[in-house]
Amino acid sequence: MGRLIIASNRLPVKIEKNENEMIVTPSAGGLATGLKSYHKGNDSVWIGWPGIIPESKEEEKTVTTLVKEEQCLPVFLTEELISMYYDGFSNATLWPLFHYFTEYIEYRRRYWEAYLKVNEMFADAIIANAKENDRVWVHDYQLLLVPNILRKKRPDLKIGFFLHIPFPSYEIIRVLPWREEIIEGLLGADLIGFHTYDYARHFMSSVKRLLGYDVDFNQIKLENRQVFIDVFPMGIDYKKFEKLATEIQSKSIQERSRVHQDIDRFLMGMPDRQLILSIDRLDYTKGIPERLKAFRHFLKEHPEYIEKVSLIMLTVPSRTDVEQYQNLKNEVDVLVGNINGEFGRLNWAPVIYFYRSMPFENLIELYSSADVALLTPLRDGMNLVAKEYIASKVKQRGVLVLSEMAGAAKELGEAISVNPNNIVQTADAIYKALTMNDEDRTKAMRTMQRRIKRYDIYKWASEFIKALDHTIDRQMDYHARKVSTRIKSSITKDFTNSKSRIIFLDYDGTLQRFFDNPQAAGPDEELYDLLNSLSKIEHTKLVLVSGRDRETFDRWFGSKNYTLIAEHGAWLKNTGEGWKERKPVNSEWKENIMPVLESYVDRTPGSLIEEKTYSLVWHYRKADIELGALRALELVHDMSNLIFNQDLEIMEGKKVIEVKVSGINKGTAAAEFLMDNPADFIMALGDDWTDEFLFKELPESSHTIKVGTENSVAKYFLNNYKEVREFLDELRKAK
Ligand code: UDP
Repeated sequence: MGRLIIASNRLPVKIEKNENEMIVTPSAGGLATGLKSYHKGNDSVWIGWPGIIPESKEEEKTVTTLVKEEQCLPVFLTEELISMYYDGFSNATLWPLFHYFTEYIEYRRRYWEAYLKVNEMFADAIIANAKENDRVWVHDYQLLLVPNILRKKRPDLKIGFFLHIPFPSYEIIRVLPWREEIIEGLLGADLIGFHTYDYARHFMSSVKRLLGYDVDFNQIKLENRQVFIDVFPMGIDYKKFEKLATEIQSKSIQERSRVHQDIDRFLMGMPDRQLILSIDRLDYTKGIPERLKAFRHFLKEHPEYIEKVSLIMLTVPSRTDVEQYQNLKNEVDVLVGNINGEFGRLNWAPVIYFYRSMPFENLIELYSSADVALLTPLRDGMNLVAKEYIASKVKQRGVLVLSEMAGAAKELGEAISVNPNNIVQTADAIYKALTMNDEDRTKAMRTMQRRIKRYDIYKWASEFIKALDHTIDRQMDYHARKVSTRIKSSITKDFTNSKSRIIFLDYDGTLQRFFDNPQAAGPDEELYDLLNSLSKIEHTKLVLVSGRDRETFDRWFGSKNYTLIAEHGAWLKNTGEGWKERKPVNSEWKENIMPVLESYVDRTPGSLIEEKTYSLVWHYRKADIELGALRALELVHDMSNLIFNQDLEIMEGKKVIEVKVSGINKGTAAAEFLMDNPADFIMALGDDWTDEFLFKELPESSHTIKVGTENSVAKYFLNNYKEVREFLDELRKAK
């Protein structure tokens, strides 16, 4: 197994410059902790911005040498790039977009260009350090384009990507002028991980709608490979919090830190006092004003809590030079002032407000002392604070009130869940949390603790790496069945050495691409030329086997020197002869089926009905991608009841549902044809579910090739009609 190269915007080290010395300290952040064992072992490397702009080449060298000791490699960015790529496209475009704050999005071409450039710089740095078959794990929204840049330049690499923030719904992402580029950028990865299934399904829906790729459960089918999507809710270093919280709790009053002593004094100031805690960066996604308003409402509704409860609000300064953040800071300052002014007492403040960060030890003291954690982001990819609070509650004496908009809410079902925009509901939740009995508190806390202790940061990282390795195995299976040069030459050899040959070819999706309007998909000159010359090879019969109606097929190929099988085998036409009906039946059944299909057309804009001699077909290629798929499921269900006890069957093809007379399929037609026309070389190519009948009926020695990567009984596969044409071209030239 190759090494692991990690790439993230920031390196997991902190560089400080004092006087003329540079000091590097490794960061204790979650990501660095989780990846420690992969990073430190196995000569792996972490690539990212060191967080400092060197003033000279010499300083650059010093930084490089220093971070190298931590197995890190710096990507140096100029002030201009940081302002355009980081403050600009990452934080002023993508951040509000991905958190549904569309009104804050800045659309600037210069931001985008810088973003592109920095993503290329990161990819180049990765490539310069990647050995063959290495694994690369790219992190977060600053590097969305890196996977595809890597894929193009180094297809041998195994690429994983994890998004640490939400992925928004298609309706949101579609506003971005560079939406296709962003999605294509991510699709360079083999595996893309999200915190929650909601983010994953938004991503898959955007892929379908914006780029039109097929998505099959959690796999995205690209032309020549597949991308796997999965959910990995990021955890924390649970034991670290648990251990420190236990130590802190067992300290005597005198041994405790100043902060801790202050908290103790506050809690002892009055019987039954309780403390509510919130910790977050001062960001508009965190719902801080809404939280304050809810707390104010709570105090109004429950004056009995005056002097009995305080909200400790730790807000960490963030992006302080950005206008929206400054406005938010002002708004929060005013709200805190108002609440304290309105409800405060000489010796009691309802809101104890800190605008700074705190050392780790103090965080744990806050976590372990707080009776309630009130975390109410409007949008949050995960919210690690919620998990840290739970881990620090070693005596299970605490209640979590958590916004349903935080990714963590998916795992923490025992928390009191709130919609942060609903001030009254949040105020009620505060009351509920403060009045919850001990038994309920302990029970909920214990259940959540067990869950997040199991899926901690180490598990999160190892599960992702395991899934990445697994996708690579799956890609290898995929490549083993692909018609390679070796397989091509073995089939070609068999073709040239045999005395009589038959080639069965499906039409739509096999020889020609799909069109929105099926009538527009007629053969082009290149295709005629290819088929004509194949059919002219001595002792070689070309059989086109299609679901198409015979009139269309007759128009396109009636005068040609090949056998035609139309309507899934209902009709057959040998060279120079007329059409023969294989199984004459009446068509009264259509009268019952047609109105049902019509009702589906009415309810599914863009869909249409096609009538064939032996079948009725409902096409939904032009309908909305998800509505079409949903209706198709419904239709199959309705039809199964309707055709019960009749000599009919339902076939599900590519964006079509066909109701047809049973017993007629491409397989039986081909088998019948082979009885009259024995051959020692048989080959069949088809892309559709209906071609599986064909593959199944043919003798074992036949060469069966599926077009597309879905499961198939065919021995091999090619990716698309273009590859089919290339292959047939090689075959005709070989003879
Ligand atoms: N944190 C910190 N110092 C502080 C306050 C918070 O290091 O003074 C940490 C906190 O422990 C948590 C992180 O900042 O690990 C915040 O992560 P979260 O997912 O809650 O929000 P984000 O800031 O990533 O949006």
